[in-house]
Amino acid sequence: MTREQKYYKGSLDGKAPLTHDPLKDVRARYDAIVIGSGLGGLTAANILARCGHKVAVLEQHYNYGGLATWFKRRGGHIFDVSLHGFPAGMKKTCRRYWNEAIAARIERLDSIRFDNPQFRLETIFTRDDFTRLLVEHFRIERARVETFYSELARMDFFSDSGETAGELFERHFPGRNDVHRLLMEPITYANGSTLSDPAISYGIVFSNFMSSGVYTFGGGTDWLIGEMKKELARSGVELFNRVEVEGILVENGQTRGVVANGREIACETVISNASLKSTVERLVGESHFSSAFAAGVKAVRLNNSSTQVYMGLAEGESIPFLTDLLFTSTRERFDSPSLCDLHGESRTFSFYYPKTRPGSTRTTIVSSMNAHWRDWAGMDEASYLANKARLEADTVTALERHVPGIRAKLTHIEAATPRTFEFYTQSPQGASFGTKFEGLRYSMELSKEVQGLYHAGSVGIIMSGWLGAANYGVITASKADGFLRSLEKVRS
Ligand SMILES: Cc1cc2nc3c(=O)[nH]c(=O)nc-3n(C[C@H](O)[C@H](O)[C@H](O)COP(=O)(O)OP(=O)(O)OC[C@H]3O[C@@H](n4cnc5c(N)ncnc54)[C@H](O)[C@@H]3O)c2cc1C
Repeated sequence: MTREQKYYKGSLDGKAPLTHDPLKDVRARYDAIVIGSGLGGLTAANILARCGHKVAVLEQHYNYGGLATWFKRRGGHIFDVSLHGFPAGMKKTCRRYWNEAIAARIERLDSIRFDNPQFRLETIFTRDDFTRLLVEHFRIERARVETFYSELARMDFFSDSGETAGELFERHFPGRNDVHRLLMEPITYANGSTLSDPAISYGIVFSNFMSSGVYTFGGGTDWLIGEMKKELARSGVELFNRVEVEGILVENGQTRGVVANGREIACETVISNASLKSTVERLVGESHFSSAFAAGVKAVRLNNSSTQVYMGLAEGESIPFLTDLLFTSTRERFDSPSLCDLHGESRTFSFYYPKTRPGSTRTTIVSSMNAHWRDWAGMDEASYLANKARLEADTVTALERHVPGIRAKLTHIEAATPRTFEFYTQSPQGASFGTKFEGLRYSMELSKEVQGLYHAGSVGIIMSGWLGAANYGVITASKADGFLRSLEKVRS
């Protein structure tokens, strides 16, 4: 029996039976209801409440944070799920839209390593350091590197030339598969994008990282979400967990509330942090959209999913500092599709030394791979368990190449698959990073179709990851605030 089945054992719909009413303190009406407590949803909720609106967040899971989450296991292990690295911009976003205490905990990673048959190197992942590597290690002329960076700097969302990331690399560094690997592989892990995705979605995200490296939260995800909950309480946001929104109510082309845990709650505006496709197709229903819009959303492609292996060292065990983030592969050459292979050869390791949680003495290591839902979805239970076991075994073997003797120090090993991600977040097909680029347009235009309806979840590659999701929450909150103010004006 899988852990998911154990957790939810004993109820008809797969979830643990509720022993209390999670909505017992809910009001009959809010200005804004936010569906989901991922970083996009929480950020939007905090801003709207600070603007003076009455806001509720309804989260189907018992924990808040969405994919920005953690879990504990017997033996004192705490595992972070998606805290591997984000761009420096997160500091500004947290300072402005959360608080100084959160912003102050954002720290740069000391080291990032690559280890594959084409190159072994260490970097701090900044423009200066990448330029050094491209010139000294890869023997590319400095002028060529500068031209590449200048072109990236000119890219923005409104200037899609139709070029793909692969074409962009080939134009600047023809025939240099090793250089393409250096530039693309980390971004593929960060947001699922591939050589076939638009160059601008690559350029925007890569430039964000290059501004000053890769950052993390000192204190771990549990500290961060705990702090965000306190800030939300100060702003006046009401949080409800274990509340699943089953539908968004629309009347005469306008949102008027939601149905959650079987109960109607009225509101003026709904901000959905759930997947774009679920929001349109399941929560609202296609009949409330123009046929062109509904067809457009249907055609939007989901991004890939992930697998992870969480490894915890025994109490009292440690490892010397190797790096914070290790991009590793045994594949001779780089190509995007193979990063999603079932039992592939490429993975990242995130090392969480005791410094991750000051005061702790514990070390954990989390391996992540990109993955396809289709590879895992159809497995019967026996095959699913066998494949999870193989994933765990392969991962420890791969880790031993970099950290000899690690196997003997591990007291907890556990795998998550696309099925796990779908189960805990309700993202269709366990999509880790929302939709492909084309989804952004539909997400941004929701309120043109249904007044008062907004989306603030990972979408379009650019608006995903910790920074992208949080910033999208800011953009969406500002639009929803404008809408609520326009209603007040009409009424006064
Ligand atoms: C393995 C992995 C590693 C990652 N690593 C990184 C990384 O290193 N750096 C980085 O920047 N990003 C990383 N990401 C991506 C990043 O975690 C996400 O892009 C980001 O956290 C998504 O935020 P979001 O606001 O879109 O919401 P999500 O995190 O997707 O949360 C959506 C929330 O909505 C809730 N919900 C959905 N439907 C309903 C409903 N009907 N009713 C109530 N609640 C509902 C879900 O339960 C969930 O809590 C990683 C993702 C994965 C899977």
